[in-house]
Amino acid sequence: MALWITEECINCDVCEPECPNQAISMGAEIYEIDPGRCTECVGHFDEPQCVQVCPVSCIPVNPDWVETPHQLLEKYQRLQAGPAGGGASSSAASPAPAA
Ligand code: SF4
Ligand code: SF4
Repeated sequence: MALWITEECINCDVCEPECPNQAISMGAEIYEIDPGRCTECVGHFDEPQCVQVCPVSCIPVNPDWVETPHQLLEKYQRLQAGPAGGGASSSAASPAPAA
């Protein structure tokens, strides 16, 4: 699942630079997470970095954006391939890691 930022956010700015996927940005009123870029830090860290640093614990998982660990890893690999990379068709040939 991607994570999301609730209205408890106090705009303290500490999470944005911690995100390895540049998924966090300032929204209209509070910070927001782009679910298309959030991998729960899969591929980068063992724990979601934004959750680690948020002083008010306002970053739960997004129940509307359910993904398996394998899908998160695929998202990570897609992001690594490049933002505008429309080329690489991902033929999902790799077996699911199942862990
Ligand atoms: S969990 Fe990781 S990838 Fe997702 S928004 Fe937080 S820091 Fe970024
Ligand atoms: S760390 Fe938490 S409170 Fe601070 S900007 Fe990010 S989501 Fe908001």
